[in-house]
Amino acid sequence: MASIISHVAVPISFRLGLGRELISVRLLRLAAFLSMVPDADVIAFKFGIPYESQWGHRGFSHSILFALIVSALFIFFSKQLRAKPATVYLICFFSMISHGLLDAMTNGGLGVAVLWPFDNERYFLPWNNIEVSPIGASAFLSQRGLEVLYSELFYVWLPCGILALLLFLVRHQMQKLRKPLH
Ligand SMILES: [Zn+2]
Repeated sequence: MASIISHVAVPISFRLGLGRELISVRLLRLAAFLSMVPDADVIAFKFGIPYESQWGHRGFSHSILFALIVSALFIFFSKQLRAKPATVYLICFFSMISHGLLDAMTNGGLGVAVLWPFDNERYFLPWNNIEVSPIGASAFLSQRGLEVLYSELFYVWLPCGILALLLFLVRHQMQKLRKPLH
């Protein structure tokens, strides 16, 4: 994994870029949660399921299909989330799938089963600059933990900041175009 905290950078950038009218606090909280959910699969280690299994770490829970299905469930709660159903779906989906993509940009562990269940192959993206995060909080309090945090600042938080800025600029441009001319 990229570290669990850094996965939240993606939904935060959506909210900063697209604004509170589109993404309510409730939707932001849900999207932040969903961006971390795939790593609940580390519980597989406790049950003796091997890393490379489709049910193991970076397996099914990191796939496109899993993100598509889980995100669809929340469409039914769009009223409570105070957002349009399509917005709920897209924000949830992109927050979840960004998890697998970020993991696929790390430089360690096995790759990510993004195409599960059609293909159980583990994939990495061609850019593997993010230092792989140690599994477990204690390992973080080390020199290695600091290296991970620095690499994530540069390769996760900085690009997410740029994404937020771009979304913000596009949104403002569109709002300007929508205003009636006098
Ligand atoms: Zn992960």
